[in-house]
Amino acid sequence: MKALRFYAPEDVRLEEVEEPTCGPGEVKLRVKNCSTCGTDVKIFHNGHQNLTPPRTIGHEIAGEVVEVGADVNATYGSEWKVGDRAQVIAAVPCGECHECRKGWMAVCQNQTSVGYQYDGGFAEYMIVPQQVLKVDGLNRIPDNVGYDEASAAEPFACAINAQELLGIEPGDTVVVFGAGPIGCMHIRIARGVHEAGPVYLVDVNAERLKMSADAVQPDETIDGSQVDVVERVMELTDGRGADVIITATAANVTQEQAIAMAARNGRISFFGGLPKNDPTITCDSNVVHYRQLHIHGANGSAPEHNKRALEYISTGQVPVKDLITRHIPLDDVMDAFSIVKNGEAIKVTVEP
Ligand SMILES: [Zn+2]
Ligand SMILES: [Zn+2]
Repeated sequence: MKALRFYAPEDVRLEEVEEPTCGPGEVKLRVKNCSTCGTDVKIFHNGHQNLTPPRTIGHEIAGEVVEVGADVNATYGSEWKVGDRAQVIAAVPCGECHECRKGWMAVCQNQTSVGYQYDGGFAEYMIVPQQVLKVDGLNRIPDNVGYDEASAAEPFACAINAQELLGIEPGDTVVVFGAGPIGCMHIRIARGVHEAGPVYLVDVNAERLKMSADAVQPDETIDGSQVDVVERVMELTDGRGADVIITATAANVTQEQAIAMAARNGRISFFGGLPKNDPTITCDSNVVHYRQLHIHGANGSAPEHNKRALEYISTGQVPVKDLITRHIPLDDVMDAFSIVKNGEAIKVTVEP
C-alpha cells in the first residue's frame, strides 16, 4: 500500500510499504479521510521530538473498519465489526497517571500521539493501537456525518477543550486571532455552543481573512497588517475590551495584544503554541492583576472532546463541511502541504 513516511526534516516520502497486519488487540482501518493542519507542515520542516522515524504521519483520521482483532470486543467491552465507520483520536492519554485519574486527560503526562509514536493516517490502511482502544479513543461516526467531516473532529476537539476553560457566557464579545480552520471552528463553537455575542476575527493575511470570513461571517474582520488591532477592538467595545480572546496562531505578538485588549474579568486562551526557539512574550502583570484576567493554556484534547465534536457536527450545532474546501488524493499529498502552508484553503483533506 502507499503511505507518507517521515524520515527526517524535509525528507518525507510517499512510498510503497507493506500493508499492516492487525494484532488480536487492535483494529484495522481503511483510511477514508486524513485531514491536514499546520502541525503536519511543522513536522515536514522541523520534525518533532516525539516522532520516531521512519513514521507514517497524519493525525486527523476517519476510516472504515476492515478487521477487528480477536480480543478487542471482549477486552474493551466494545462492539466493533467490519464495515463500521470510525474516527480516531490523535492525542492518546495513558489513562493511569495522576492527571488522567483527575479527568484531565488533555494534559496526561504520558501522552503519546497517532502519527508520532504510532503510524498515522496518510496511508491506505492503518492500525488502531491498543493504547487508543484502551482509552475509548476509537469513535463511531454518526450516520449523517461524512468521513471528511469526521476527520475534522480531532482539531475541533482541541477547540472544545480550550473553550471549556473560558466560561463563555451568552453575549460575550469574542476575539479570535488566526483565520485558519481552527480559528473558524473557534468562532462556530463560541456561537453555536456558548451563544457568544459579537465575534471579531483577526489575521495578517488579507486573502485568508476574506476566505474564512466568507465562511463563518464574523461580525467584523480586522487585518492586523493594516490597523492597530488593540485600538480597533477597544473602539468596537466602547473602550471596555473583549470578554474572551483566543489566539489560534503561533505569533507571539497576538498573545501580548490579547492581554492588552482584554476586558475586566477577561478570559484568554493561548491556544496556539509559540515557536520553540522564541517562546516568550512581554506581559504587563499589573494589567492581569488589576483587570482580574484569566489566562489559560490549551493542550490538544481528551477522547471525550472528540466524541462531543462528532455530536456537534451531527446535530448541526457546529457545521464543518463547508470548512473543508479541498479534497486531495493520497498521490498528491505533497501538494496538500504547500496549500496548507500558503493558506490557500481553509481545510485540506487527503483521501487515500
Ligand atoms: Zn492537526
Ligand atoms: Zn495519563
